[in-house]
Amino acid sequence: MNKFDLIVIGAGPGGYETAAEAAASGLAVALIERGELGGTCLNRGCIPTKALCKSAEMALNVSEAAQFGVNVSGFSFNYAVAAARKDEVVKALQEGVKMAVSKCTVIQGEAKFVSGDTVEINGELYCAPRIILATGSQPAQLPIPGAEYAISSDKLLSLTELPPRVVIVGGGVIGMEFASILNAFGVEVTVIEYMKEILPPFDKDIAKRLRMSLSRRGINIITSAAVKEIRHDHTVVYDSKGKENEVAADMVVMAVGRRAVVPAGLENTMVEVGRRGIEVDENFMTAQPGIYAIGDVNGVMMLAHAASAQGKRVLGHDINLAVIPSAVFTTPECAMVGLTEEQCKDKGIDYKSVKVPFRGNGKALAMGEPDGLLKLIVDKATRQILGCHICGPHAADLIAEPAVVMSQNLTVDAICDTVHSHPTLTEVLAVAAGQF
Ligand code: NAD
Repeated sequence: MNKFDLIVIGAGPGGYETAAEAAASGLAVALIERGELGGTCLNRGCIPTKALCKSAEMALNVSEAAQFGVNVSGFSFNYAVAAARKDEVVKALQEGVKMAVSKCTVIQGEAKFVSGDTVEINGELYCAPRIILATGSQPAQLPIPGAEYAISSDKLLSLTELPPRVVIVGGGVIGMEFASILNAFGVEVTVIEYMKEILPPFDKDIAKRLRMSLSRRGINIITSAAVKEIRHDHTVVYDSKGKENEVAADMVVMAVGRRAVVPAGLENTMVEVGRRGIEVDENFMTAQPGIYAIGDVNGVMMLAHAASAQGKRVLGHDINLAVIPSAVFTTPECAMVGLTEEQCKDKGIDYKSVKVPFRGNGKALAMGEPDGLLKLIVDKATRQILGCHICGPHAADLIAEPAVVMSQNLTVDAICDTVHSHPTLTEVLAVAAGQF
């Protein structure tokens, strides 16, 4: 029997960061991984997608270069180079993860529970008083005829050339990020979304703004449409307003959510698995004392930074998990923190909301990216920020400022009383805050 103070199963951002921190504090930590260090985020998610986003942004910039006084001739795409660059970025970061977990005992293999404190890996037993499950999630598939003709985001990220026409099923975060990337590379893209608007958890004004922006770039976005069949030749059949329609494609990408990956042998423990994933309490402990579940596997919030933050909570940090920003890396980007305006209405909160377009901002105009909107929602009685929603350049970075104000329980006055440098995009938030 191999004994440790802590066993962490899964080396995605939740697992490896938690394992590294625990090992740095002096604990004997075993980190178990059946695939590659870095998990979905580094190998098949956030990082490779962001590398491709940069190539896409470069393609859009070059196509608009003449407006900036730069004439480019002979401009063409080489997706194989973009894909190879993405792989280089991933490889460099994999080295970083290896260094980060150097104080842990890293075990390559699949963990199977044999009891509430023991797992079997490659035929050997390992036990610890605390075990953290950070086994992540995998792409979900629609139960429709022909679902096997669609590829997942994992497969899409492994391509080295792109087809002329792609249909993306699902206008959520993954669907819209890939729509934005593929369109920039000259692919004819159609997105079919079941709900009335794309990005269902986002504020409707922001999602609409992104839909309009991407539609102007030539992406065909069909909402209120349920995909019911994918044919062998990649034709996608969907129902919309009671009518059956179809759209032809060379490739279909399924981006309809992700589902938890649960380790084997949980029946030998008291851990309970619900519809979203492993059931946990507010400190991410499962029904089996000593076993915790963080990140996508608990289904609470499928975001890399949420997984890492949950791991910090397990290690005893007093981290504010009520305020977690999220972002969509389209061009333009979208980001949000807190409640949407729809949620404020549903909760009957007495709020005031202010919208500020980016087109009045000097930096946005100078960058040639005036297409954007920031919405700030403030509680009338307490002046606390309830939510901030952005569609515009660098939205994913801009959202950090209102997130700090919210997580520290400050009021909107903290923004008004802070000098924002000029000319910067941060002035959009300062202008919004000044209207309360
Ligand atoms: P999602 O839940 O964000 O979106 C799935 C979409 O598919 C929804 O809009 C849903 O309405 C739609 N859909 C479902 N059934 C459909 C049907 N029959 N026809 C048409 N549309 C249908 O899921 P995702 O985009 O696959 O992302 C998975 C998870 O990964 C999410 O939790 C997401 O937050 C996370 N993620 C985050 C980032 C980021 O933070 N930038 C990036 C990628 C993924």
